[in-house]
Formats: sequence, C-alpha cells, structure tokens
Amino acid sequence: MELSYWEYKTWLTNVDFTIVGSGIVGLNCALRLRERFPKAKILILEKGFLPQGASTKNAGFACFGSISEILADLDIHSEQEVIELVAQRWKGIQKLRKNLGDKAMDFQVNGGHELFLDAAQELYQKCVQNQSEINALLHPIFKADAFHGSPNTFGFKGIKENYITHRFEGQLDTGKMMNGLLKLVQQAGITILNSITVEHFSADRSSVKIKTNRFEFSSKKMLIATNGFAPQLIGEDVKPARAQVLITKPIENLPLKGTFHFDEGYYYFRNIDNRVLFGGGRNLDFKGEETDRFGNSQLIQVHLDKLLKEVILPETPFTIDHRWSGIMGTGMQKKPIVKQLSENVYCGVRLGGMGIAIGSTIGHNLADLIA
Ligand SMILES: Cc1cc2nc3c(=O)[nH]c(=O)nc-3n(C[C@H](O)[C@H](O)[C@H](O)COP(=O)(O)OP(=O)(O)OC[C@H]3O[C@@H](n4cnc5c(N)ncnc54)[C@H](O)[C@@H]3O)c2cc1C
Repeated sequence: MELSYWEYKTWLTNVDFTIVGSGIVGLNCALRLRERFPKAKILILEKGFLPQGASTKNAGFACFGSISEILADLDIHSEQEVIELVAQRWKGIQKLRKNLGDKAMDFQVNGGHELFLDAAQELYQKCVQNQSEINALLHPIFKADAFHGSPNTFGFKGIKENYITHRFEGQLDTGKMMNGLLKLVQQAGITILNSITVEHFSADRSSVKIKTNRFEFSSKKMLIATNGFAPQLIGEDVKPARAQVLITKPIENLPLKGTFHFDEGYYYFRNIDNRVLFGGGRNLDFKGEETDRFGNSQLIQVHLDKLLKEVILPETPFTIDHRWSGIMGTGMQKKPIVKQLSENVYCGVRLGGMGIAIGSTIGHNLADLIA
C-alpha cells in the first residue's frame, strides 16, 4: 500500500529519534528522550498490536536476586560486581515507583520467598550457612538484613521446613505497569505505531534508513530496544529465551501471598487476583526454549502442572485458566548491553529475567547515550 503525502509528512518526515520496540526499555527510553529534547519528533515502532516481547508477559516480580542466585553470582563475579548488580535492581525499582506511583501498578511488598525442594539439601545448607554473610554484603543497599528464614506457613509440600525470605521483594500488576507507561508516553507527545516490524536498516553519517514491513523512511537516530529479538537486527551477544507461564482460575480463600522461587529461580509463582500465576521450567529444555517463537511445549507444561499440584497447591483443588509464553533476551553475561553501535544507531538489550527491576534505568541510560 502506498502512503499518502500527508502520511509521510505528518508521521515519517523529520524524525529525530526512532525507537524500535515498545517494551519497558523502549518506553523509558522515549520518556527520557522527551525530557532531554522537549521539541524532538520521537517515534516508536512496535511489531505487536500491543508490546509483544517480555514486558507484557512477565510474572510481575520486583526482585533483587534470591539468596541462591546471589551465591551463584558470587561464583562468577567479584563481590563488588554483585553489589553493583543488586544496587542497580534496587534503584531501578525505586525509579519505576517514582515514575508511575505504587497505586497505578498495584505495587505491593509482601516479601519474596525462596523454597528448597527436599532433594536440594546441599543448596539449602549452603544458603542457610551463608545468610549472615550475604546480609552483611548487601547491608549498604538495603540498610537492614534483607534475608531471613521463615516457616512454611503456606503449607507447600516436599520442601525444606523453612523458606529464605527477602523482606523487601515486591510484586506488581504487569498490565497496569505497562498501561501506565504507555499513557505517560502518549502524554509526552510521542507517537507509537503498532504492527510495524523493522526488517532492515542502513546507517550513514547523517541518518538511518529504516525499512519496515509497511514503509521505508529516514530517522536521524535509531535506538534498538528489542531485547530477545535483537539477533534479527544486530549482531550482539543476545539469545532469545522463551519462558512459559500458566495461571489458575480464582481460588476461594487462597492462602498464599507474595512471590516465590525455587530450583535456583527456574520456577516462580505468586498470588494475583486470588489466582496462582506459575512459570518456569526452561531448564528442562534449554535448547528447545532458545527461540523467539511464542508457544508452549508439552514437556514444560506437564511439569508445571505436576509441581503446581504436588508442591504448591497439594490440598487445594484448582483449574488452569490460561497459559502463555514470553521471550526474554539472555547471553553469556548477565549485564545488559547498552551501547552505541555506529554513529547514529544505539541499543539497550539483554535484560534477562530482571527487566522490571532494571528496565527503567536501562531505558534511561540508552537515551543518555545520545550526545
Ligand atoms: C514469562 C516471563 C516472566 C518474567 N518475569 C519477570 C519478573 O517477574 N520480574 C522481572 O523483573 N522480569 C521478568 N521477566 C523479564 C522481563 O519481562 C524482561 O526483562 C523485560 O520485559 C524486557 O523488557 P524489554 O523492553 O527489554 O523487552 P521486551 O518487553 O521484549 O520489548 C521488546 C519489544 O520489541 C518489539 N520488537 C522486537 N523486534 C521488533 C522489530 N523488528 N520491529 C519492531 N518491534 C520489534 C517486541 O514486540 C517487544 O514488544 C520475565 C519475562 C518473561 C518472558
């Protein structure tokens, strides 16, 4: 379909900044650009009819790293690097809360509990033994002992007698968070064009020519915020990682409240609207889940059903209401990639499983790469 003179002139001419992707990073990048360049023409191109990667699909944990995750990180990073990683997540959540307000995204701090399956004796011992040391390490960030043991009050089965709880971990309504961000972006006079896939670009010293599935145009600068889909456009070390989730129908008198992780974070669940949202199991088939195609696999869904019935809700009847998946961006390192790729092209990608905590800051930092 040919575009009209008016369509080109109004939406696709004299574009200062084009952001590819309207996830948490793309939206925060746009807001920061508006702050820095009040008069600029800012355009966001999004391939989904809604944001369609991880930001509208996730579990809504505002987390900073469970104790086993922090211990695993200490095996491959220095203490200082781990402190910086956790501090970045903590500050990122404060930034998100400041930008949107707790009410707008139903932000609650109910604690985050790490459970240990009976078979995970060694890991449990290691975490219990190192709890004080990790609390001391992270004290400068949380100004308190973040981790403490708590009894199995929610009646999970097949797990050790105590959880290790992070007292500051929170949870939010992912849909409300994204809707709130989209509203801020609209209020800031930024255009989002949905169902537009960027297929190719070529950059020279003055601009970037962008080819989409519908039209071609030029933009002075382009900022790529496509996370797990980044390999389709750029050659950085990012791999797609699909994550599968299910949610139950509402359960009367559902006792559990908070966020929960087990098996070194490969499984996670929480309460929301009297339901249990449960996801994970990527470790059952890493290769198969290294894909940017949405979908569920029987192997993982059967396992999620089994754990939900045997561990999480052993005494409570439930029905599964809905299943979905999302695509994350991971790589050899946990650190996101925020960098300038050529004179007018930039990227902020590889958010891993912590995008709620760090997405606001990464979007901000991506925008700040512009001189
Ligand atoms: C099931 C699941 C559970 C998770 N749970 C949590 C959690 O509890 N807590 C937490 O902190 N993190 C969680 N995460 C991770 C978190 O959601 C991500 O780190 C974060 O959303 C990444 O944001 P983003 O903006 O970088 O990427 P995305 O949200 O993936 O945004 C990228 C956007 O780019 C668009 N796009 C891609 N290619 C193109 C193209 N060529 N042209 C135009 N548009 C394009 C996509 O459609 C997408 O909307 C979870 C992720 C998943 C999948």
